[in-house]
Amino acid sequence: MIDALIVGGGLAGCVISHKLLSEGKSIYVIDKSSLSSSSKVAAGIYNPIAGKYFSLSWSAEEVWSDLELFYQRLEKKLGQNFLFPLPINRILSNEDQNLKWNKRKIQSRYKPFLAAENAVLPNYINTNKFGHISIKQSGYLSVENFITHSLSYFHSKASFLDDFFDFNSLIINPKSIEYKGLKARRIIICTGYLAAKSDLFSFLPFTPMKGEILLIKNDIQLKQIFTKACFILPQNGGKIKVGSTYNWQEINEDITEYAKDYLLAKVKDLLNHEPSLEDQFAGIRPSVKDRRPLIGQHPKYSNVLLFNGLGSKGVSLAPYLADCLLKLIFDNKRLPQDIDLQRYA
Ligand SMILES: Cc1cc2nc3c(=O)[nH]c(=O)nc-3n(C[C@H](O)[C@H](O)[C@H](O)COP(=O)(O)OP(=O)(O)OC[C@H]3O[C@@H](n4cnc5c(N)ncnc54)[C@H](O)[C@@H]3O)c2cc1C
Repeated sequence: MIDALIVGGGLAGCVISHKLLSEGKSIYVIDKSSLSSSSKVAAGIYNPIAGKYFSLSWSAEEVWSDLELFYQRLEKKLGQNFLFPLPINRILSNEDQNLKWNKRKIQSRYKPFLAAENAVLPNYINTNKFGHISIKQSGYLSVENFITHSLSYFHSKASFLDDFFDFNSLIINPKSIEYKGLKARRIIICTGYLAAKSDLFSFLPFTPMKGEILLIKNDIQLKQIFTKACFILPQNGGKIKVGSTYNWQEINEDITEYAKDYLLAKVKDLLNHEPSLEDQFAGIRPSVKDRRPLIGQHPKYSNVLLFNGLGSKGVSLAPYLADCLLKLIFDNKRLPQDIDLQRYA
């Protein structure tokens, strides 16, 4: 009998699987990747300071303590490069932002995440009199590469099946689960926004959020991340990612003219340069009403677990949340209340 059957091989499923393997546990992953594109299209940015109030990310100290190290260890293990630590430069838009930031930056919790001020910005950035801030302990994960190499690693260990998981064929016993002849001690459901459609977890207040992203030519030789109402992110192969949109109304993975025009307008405001569009993608983020992750045990079946609600911060949150879930499973340590799905049970 294996220790855990993982359903879903996006960012959540891959991170929890690696964490389980590093604890010496046996896993089996079932994923049909065509069902949801969120992880594959994600920009993969990890940024400790975001939003209009320059808020520190939830539990930033704990979440960031092992973040880069976690992915860097996996780079070594898989012999691939998918983590790119880079500063994030945020251009301030008005006097109000400047005032808000000046209040924030003197708080001691912010110090570890502040890069040196007053660096001169490149000519292709449209600067203004309000200045900019530079954030460190930031960068991006090439999520698509991370997933591709993770799934092929699990496949090489005979621990991966590329197939649709049919919840009607799941049998839940008190101390195990069974699925089409496979027996496991527990099942961990990592199906992104599609978890809302499974009977087991449909009682939870998922609020899926569509996002679209553009790929433009990197003819400015962009090497860092810049943000101002949108972000621009250098990619391998001479491309820049521009994102993202947030749409709660339209839950499908179709690209739209509206999102394209919106993002092109934002990037024109950030750059002194005419962007050349190459491609466009869409995905659905697994978001939750209170904007907190949703992890933990099913209220009725303790061996059925959910790893979900990564929202727009999957790259930074997933490794820490996976640690929390493993401590719940193996050490019976309670989850922080604001991420435990029991808050809605
Ligand atoms: C445009 C956009 C930009 C983003 N940018 C960032 C960013 O910069 N930084 C960041 O941290 N996050 C970003 N995100 C969010 C990020 O994508 C998510 O937080 C994260 O990828 C969610 O991962 P997941 O594994 O929970 O879900 P998913 O990526 O949806 O993965 C779920 C997997 O389960 C599979 N599956 C579902 N049901 C079944 C079934 N019944 N049987 C078999 N397989 C099944 C799906 O096909 C999929 O492979 C962005 C998202 C979008 C859409």
